[in-house]
Amino acid sequence: MLEKMEEFDSERVVEEFEAITKDAGKVQREALKKILEQNASAEYLQNLGLNGRTDPEGFKACVPLVTHEELEPYILRIVDGDPSPILTGKPITTISLSSGTTQGKQKFIPFNEELMESTMQIYRTSFAFRNREFPIGNGKALQLIYSSKQFKTKGGLAAGTATTNVFRNSKFKRTMKAMQSQSCSPDEVIFGPDFHQSLYCHLLCGLIFRDEVQFVTSTFAHSIIHAFITFEQVWEELCTDIRYGVLSSKITFPPIRTAMSKLLKPNPELADLIHRKCTGLSNWYRLIPELFPNAKYIYGILTGSMEPYLKKLRHYAGELPLLSADYGSSEGWIGANVNPHLPPELATFAVLPNIGFFEFIPLRDNIENQDHNGMESSFLCVEPEPVGLTEVKIGEEYEIVLTNFAGLYRYRLGDAVKVVGFHNSTPELKFVCRRNLLLSINIDKNTEKDLQLAVEAAAMLLGEEKLDVVDYSSHVDSSTDPGHYVIFWEINGEASEDVLKECCNCLDRSFIDAGYVSSRKVKTIGALELRVLRRGTFQKILDHYLKLGAAVSQFKTPRCVGPTNNLVLQILRANVVKSYFSTAF
Ligand code: AMP
Repeated sequence: MLEKMEEFDSERVVEEFEAITKDAGKVQREALKKILEQNASAEYLQNLGLNGRTDPEGFKACVPLVTHEELEPYILRIVDGDPSPILTGKPITTISLSSGTTQGKQKFIPFNEELMESTMQIYRTSFAFRNREFPIGNGKALQLIYSSKQFKTKGGLAAGTATTNVFRNSKFKRTMKAMQSQSCSPDEVIFGPDFHQSLYCHLLCGLIFRDEVQFVTSTFAHSIIHAFITFEQVWEELCTDIRYGVLSSKITFPPIRTAMSKLLKPNPELADLIHRKCTGLSNWYRLIPELFPNAKYIYGILTGSMEPYLKKLRHYAGELPLLSADYGSSEGWIGANVNPHLPPELATFAVLPNIGFFEFIPLRDNIENQDHNGMESSFLCVEPEPVGLTEVKIGEEYEIVLTNFAGLYRYRLGDAVKVVGFHNSTPELKFVCRRNLLLSINIDKNTEKDLQLAVEAAAMLLGEEKLDVVDYSSHVDSSTDPGHYVIFWEINGEASEDVLKECCNCLDRSFIDAGYVSSRKVKTIGALELRVLRRGTFQKILDHYLKLGAAVSQFKTPRCVGPTNNLVLQILRANVVKSYFSTAF
């Protein structure tokens, strides 16, 4: 295990990964055995009558598949301070809060040292592979990371977003240092209480250390884009700070001011250089390599709900490669990107078989249960049995079921993935979508991915006017009869009426799921509505989540806003400037 900086050895990490993936089935059995032995005294497992069995067959026979909702009563007892072994043998002392962007409700999830260790294992594994193909020099990383507020639960447990729990752990810093990926920014900036102040200072630190920056990173692509959009607005102020060595008065948090004053010295040459670079760019194209001439790549989660930001990211990145980060969730990590050269659209994640016990519910059967008109037959609700990690088949889609070292047993993660290959005997997964993000009125079913494709097709029409969709969301409006889809767009300028009407029609035509098309034809689903939002609406939504304690580092724009997410819906509705109904059908 890596503990000290000097000990990082890429080759050894790769060898370890090769070893655990050679016989992934055996490693899975061992991982399950270890989880069940460590937690044998947990009330949850005791009640299920495992009676000491630790084999996958016994485990599957005794332990039911669960959703977060079903585990919530147990988790809430932990959160409220019940010290007895409820889900784990050793008491849980830290809680992760999910971002809440999927269902509008933040979830409490147990966190412990084993999850921390598997996080570091994932980071080390993908770094070892990445560094073979894209070696970085000795330097720093512009890490656009932020901590959320940490608080104590009623029962006295520390709670914060999963990324916050990771960033605050000393192992994180040690591992980053070992991987020559320390942040340019001092801790005071990462852990500052105000995201806007932290972002400004991250940018400033990046500029101060511009020659040392080896790569630019954040957890999700959204925060990288957000940072450089902000840069476009504040670059002159940043130059002034650098020129005079005086931090802008808008940074008010004293610990940040103190920490920054140690780094910021008057540097008119640097200020002039950055000024020249910025004024010389055409529409900020290649901004990142211009600012950071030694950066080798941009790194973050770029897949799934981050794909819509790739176009903008490529604009800022120019020729710099975009490397996809690993796949995981607050509940635990799943796979590492060991093929870093693949573009984000093709990125895959090799499951680490020792960090949990993984099962996969086949999703193809669900599709086979549809008749030729796309109508679901009644036996759709009989869900197929999950299969094991090494039993999955290439080309098939599955929902992931996770058993981890922190008290989740046969937990349905809700993500759909596709198996695209194997690394030794462990599957390589492609992220497909979050299953529960569906636009559905009657027999239609559209996922986040379907929405993304429709938006991409329609947004092409904006290209004629050199405009882009900054961000988007959607909603099923059932207050009309029949109900209809509403798509919200924030655009980076004024599009003409004709183009927007055409975009609206194109959106409607681009949902090609048979259930939607047939319902539209017989008018059991009403005309799709495109609502154009005021500039800055998605910033308001981000601010709304931050107030609730979410972290920018983990923020994912809610792509489908249901009734449980009333406040976001209110923000969207209050900021509509124009609306169009499709005439496509
Ligand atoms: P959270 O628990 O708030 O961090 O969100 C976890 C969710 O983010 C996962 O369940 C996925 O839906 C999504 N996610 C995480 N990593 C990736 C990835 N590499 N690609 C696509 N989606 C991801």
